[in-house]
Amino acid sequence: MQWTDLKARLLSVGSTRITGKPAEMYIARSAAGPGAGGSGAVFFAVGSNRVKLALNPLSAVEIAHHGNGVADLHFEGVIISGRLLEPGCHCPDQAFITVTGSCIFHCRYCPVPTLGGKRKTIEEIKGMIEAAWHRIGAISITSGVLETIEEEESYVLEVIQHLREYNLPIGVSIYPTDHTPDRLRALGVTEVKFNIEAATPAIFATQCPGLDYEQLWRVLDRSVELFGKGRVFSNVIIGLGETDDEMEACIRRLASHGIIPVLRPLNPVAELKGNPRPTAERLKTIFSIHERELKNAGLNPREALTMCTNCAGCDLVPGRD
Ligand code: SF4
Repeated sequence: MQWTDLKARLLSVGSTRITGKPAEMYIARSAAGPGAGGSGAVFFAVGSNRVKLALNPLSAVEIAHHGNGVADLHFEGVIISGRLLEPGCHCPDQAFITVTGSCIFHCRYCPVPTLGGKRKTIEEIKGMIEAAWHRIGAISITSGVLETIEEEESYVLEVIQHLREYNLPIGVSIYPTDHTPDRLRALGVTEVKFNIEAATPAIFATQCPGLDYEQLWRVLDRSVELFGKGRVFSNVIIGLGETDDEMEACIRRLASHGIIPVLRPLNPVAELKGNPRPTAERLKTIFSIHERELKNAGLNPREALTMCTNCAGCDLVPGRD
């Protein structure tokens, strides 16, 4: 089975069970992103390819751990040999830290508002980076919103001031104000990700009440002016009711603006619990469109230094998968 095909099928299932030797040191626990607040996830790698799967004892996928990360994945009658990756901090190779684990908004697909996580202090964040130091090559920062978008931005800026001493590339993905790109650039941040989340404004309005789709596009365009083509990213969820044509138009618009789309299969949690995950066939169709549009726009995801396009755990990433 080709890797792209295997990963599309695995992402369509979204989970695995773990058998064999204890695997605690390979389990990543997240306060944001797909699987936030769940019972953990693992990264299974074959060569330089990887996939992140949530742990679920009832999953149709099984990873048999033989010790020291060596593992076999059993799925649809085939056995694939690989290894479990040790997470740096949330994901392999990076300290990806959620500054504030709660949110005042209520995007329908997101579990963060119900988790009510707390805000980390600067000392806690530095402690997390230093604990993972020997395994990381980048720092990525995301955050919910504790009080207001403006107050969150100013706290994240303060955090970043303290992270510059590590001399690692820093990626930031937060809810932006109109000034966020300029302020992050002034602090030496390398890459930014502002998420339009939905392929169309109508879907966004239903899924993310109280947030402004067009403002996100303005902020993304300003970011490309400051950070450069290919240093700006935006998540778009696959499976919120958009058609393939709508997804294609959205991918083309992002890429033609110099923005790399991060196309994320829906993880049906929060208010979308019970919705279907996108099928492997659909993920592969959209992957081909993604590959073509990035190529046409001269964008190369392999050059990403931070965040999800560098990690490539949760999505099919052209040039990586
Ligand atoms: S792809 Fe993004 S959300 Fe998924 S594990 Fe990697 S950094 Fe986290």
